Amino acid sequence: MATTLETLNPFATAQSQIARAVERLGLSSQVYEMLKEPQRVLSVAVPVRMDSGRLQTFQGFRAQHTDVIGPGKGGVRFHPAVNIDEVKALAIWMTFKCAVLGLPYGGAKGGVVCDPSLLSEGEMERLARGYMRAISPMVGPDLDIPAPDVNTSAKIMGYMLDEYRRLHARNAPGVITGKPLVLGGSPGRPGATGRGCAIVVREAASRIGLPLKGAKVAVQGFGNVGSHTAQQLQDLGCRIVGVTDVRGGAYDPLGLDLDALSRHTEAHGTVQGLPGAQEITSAQLFALDVDILVPAALENQITASAALSIRAKIVAEAANGPTTPQAAALLSERGILVIPDILASAGGVTVSYFEWVQNTMNFYWSEAEVNEKLERMMVSAFEEIWTMSSEYATSLREAAYLAGVRRLAGAMAARGWLE
Ligand code: NAD
Repeated sequence: MATTLETLNPFATAQSQIARAVERLGLSSQVYEMLKEPQRVLSVAVPVRMDSGRLQTFQGFRAQHTDVIGPGKGGVRFHPAVNIDEVKALAIWMTFKCAVLGLPYGGAKGGVVCDPSLLSEGEMERLARGYMRAISPMVGPDLDIPAPDVNTSAKIMGYMLDEYRRLHARNAPGVITGKPLVLGGSPGRPGATGRGCAIVVREAASRIGLPLKGAKVAVQGFGNVGSHTAQQLQDLGCRIVGVTDVRGGAYDPLGLDLDALSRHTEAHGTVQGLPGAQEITSAQLFALDVDILVPAALENQITASAALSIRAKIVAEAANGPTTPQAAALLSERGILVIPDILASAGGVTVSYFEWVQNTMNFYWSEAEVNEKLERMMVSAFEEIWTMSSEYATSLREAAYLAGVRRLAGAMAARGWLE
């Protein structure tokens, strides 16, 4: 059962994941020492002129975990619960995501403590521009490259890119990814995390003999990642029976009409109240009789008590850190296959990498080319982690950390950082 002993601090979770992998690989404790804290964390105060004329200051952060493999890479989150430990954890997880996919980046992450539902469009734009001004000394195409995350979008990336150009008086589209196409964004980027998640679900399902045709799916979170994952899984033949968001949920055992759900969400800002569907909470969603469960909202959603209720055969972590360590252990004991976040949600950063490459070349690919490259990289990363999990007789999560730490330790040794 969920107890007060459950680890809910994502930074502590991330550190323990690294420590376990370093130990299991029999590496020097120096590797852990080098990875246990982000190399750089900036805390900023962003004054914003509100529509009322009043000045309001928002707190923000940017963390860069390690530059051992390359520049920092990671999204920017606008959310009331943003805090320094969350940003540090998310930066660490980005390092591992990039390492697992073989991308030439270290991890980074940013966040601003704010409630976007209370901000006007103009206030959001001024906040995004102010945040970019505040972090600009530490970002750049070869330094640290932000991207969208919870409550930030291509539009916000466009404002941040424009602010960077004003500050530096030069066009540098590679300073940010997930930006609008017209400013050098990549085709396929908006749906990339969902597409990547569906690819690894398909691979996992084939390994355990689960046919996707008619497979029942529940998705928590219907934002960028949840909605695209649902669509991609439906395209593979699955039936999406339940979806929840921060305000409520919709359930139909016969399958939800995703087009109607998207239109409803567009109009009402929530999946709640979809005509013809039953209301459902996230706790009820986790316990549904489904084949595949996709947490695509925030950290620590699957607690130990939720883990005991889960009936899915596959849990695909499209969100970052959705499962507490205690819940992860229970899922593993119960024989539920968990595709860890650092693999299942890596499609977004992979296409962000493609976007950065295209910006560097000033030569742009078609969506079909992007999708084909994403497919190849996700399948190859999945195969490597699947093989490692059987070699080490361990979970896909631990195998992914083993693969990541091995790559990072190799880079540290090559730079002469280890004795
Ligand atoms: P988003 O803002 O587009 O959507 C978030 C969704 O989660 C919304 O539907 C929201 O209502 C829902 N949600 C929030 N709190 C909830 C709660 N307590 N219970 C149920 N639902 C809740 O954000 P996103 O970009 O889709 O990101 C979702 C997750 O995926 C995050 O963990 C993020 O870090 C991760 N991620 C995002 C990307 C990306 O490219 N956007 C890439 C990799 C991972």
